[in-house]
Amino acid sequence: MKTNVLIAAGLTAAVILGVFLFQGAGEERARAEAAAAEAEAARAARMELITDALSKAERLYQGYYYDEALAVLREDPELSAAAESAGDDAAGLIAAKIGEIETAKGSLVRYDGPVHHVFFHSLIVYPQLAFDDKGHPAKGYNMWMTTVKEFKAMLPLLREKGYVLYDLKEYIQEDPEHPGSVVLRDIYLPEGKVPLVLSVDDVNYYDYMKPDGFADRLVMGEDGRVWTEVETPEGVKTVTRDGDVVPILDDFVEQYPDFSFRGAKGTLALTGYEGALGYRITDGLPQEAEWQQTVKTIAAALRSEGWNFACHSYTHNSSWFQAGRATLGQVKYDTDRWKEKIEPWVGETDIYISPFGFTWKNSDPRYRYIIGQGGYRIFCSVGNSRTIRNNGDHIVMPRVNLDGYTMNRRAEEVKTWYFDVRDVLDTARPPLEL
Ligand SMILES: [Zn+2]
Repeated sequence: MKTNVLIAAGLTAAVILGVFLFQGAGEERARAEAAAAEAEAARAARMELITDALSKAERLYQGYYYDEALAVLREDPELSAAAESAGDDAAGLIAAKIGEIETAKGSLVRYDGPVHHVFFHSLIVYPQLAFDDKGHPAKGYNMWMTTVKEFKAMLPLLREKGYVLYDLKEYIQEDPEHPGSVVLRDIYLPEGKVPLVLSVDDVNYYDYMKPDGFADRLVMGEDGRVWTEVETPEGVKTVTRDGDVVPILDDFVEQYPDFSFRGAKGTLALTGYEGALGYRITDGLPQEAEWQQTVKTIAAALRSEGWNFACHSYTHNSSWFQAGRATLGQVKYDTDRWKEKIEPWVGETDIYISPFGFTWKNSDPRYRYIIGQGGYRIFCSVGNSRTIRNNGDHIVMPRVNLDGYTMNRRAEEVKTWYFDVRDVLDTARPPLEL
C-alpha cells in the first residue's frame, strides 16, 4: 500500500511538475514569440523608414535636387540609426544611393548649345469647335494654336530628345561688377540634357475664344492644385486636368520629374485688357475685388509650382505694337497700366514677352521706356536664331512657336530640333491654307 501511495504521490508530483514545466516552457515560448514579433515590427518600421527615405531622395534626385536628396539620406539621425540596426543590406542601400547621387552631381556639364525657348497659346480642347469657322475664323486658330492632343504628344518626344524644362529667370543674374547690368548665368546639366524654356502667351481666356473649344479659366482645386474650367460642346461646365498647358505640364512633371530642372515649368504671358487667367479684374465689375483675390491665390499657387509670369503688354494693340506705330505716350500708358492693374495680383516680374513678337531698336525711346521704367531684364521676341543678345541692362531671347503654322511650314526645322510633326499633328486640323 505504502509503495503504491508513494508511487501515486510520485506520479502526481511528476504530473504536477510536468504541468509546471510544460507551462513554463509555454510561457517562455510565448515570451520568445512576443519578443520576435516585436523585433520584427521594429525591423519592419526601420525598413519602412529606409524605403521612404530612399524613394523621397530618388524623386528629388530625378528632379535635379542633388543636395536636397543627399540631405534626406544623410541628415536624419533616425534614419542612420535605423540603417545601422537594420543591418548591412539597408546601410549599403543608402550608401550606394549617396554615392550615385554624388557621382551624378559631380558629372554635370556646362551647357553651351543653342538656346531653346518654345511657346504656345491656350490649347484647343475641342477641335470641332475651334475649326467650325463659327465665332473666330478657323484659319487663325489653325495657324497659331496647338491642340491638347498635340501638346500631350509632344511632351514625351521632347523628353526623349533630352530636353529639360529650365527656369527663364535662371538665365541671367545681375553683373556684380556693373550694377544695373545683367550677365548670363552658367547652366549645368547632366551630359546630353538640353535646357528648354517654355512660355504660354495670352493666358487671359478672352471672350472671343469662349465658343471655340478652349478652357474658360484656371481655377483653384480643393487639392491646392490649379485646374482648368472647360465647357463641353454640350454646354456642361467641367473642371479638368487637361484643359490647357498648366495642368497638363504639372501632371507630366509629376510623372516624369526628370523633365524639369528643379521644378521649373514655364512662363505665362498676360495682357490686361480683359483681366487675367479668365477673371475680368480690370473692368470695374462688382465681383472685381473677389476675383482679384482669386487671381492672387492662383498666381501664388502657380509660382510655387514652378511657373513665372510675364507682361505681354496691357492692350496687345496691333497698330501700336505689330505695326510699330505706338507713340511714346501710348507705350507709357500700356506699360504703366499693366503694372497697376495686373502686377499687383500676379506678382512682380522682370520678364516682358512682346505682343506679336515685336522688337524695336534698343535706343528707341519707347523701347527704353518699357525696359527702363518697366524694369524688365528679359525681353522675349519671336524668332529661330536660338541665341541670346545681351543689351547690357537686359537680354533678348527669341522664341519658337510650336503651333499649326510652324508644324506645317517648318516641319524640317521642327524635326531637326524637336520631333517629327507626323507623330504630333492633330488629324482634326483642316488643311492649312495660306
Ligand atoms: Zn499675344
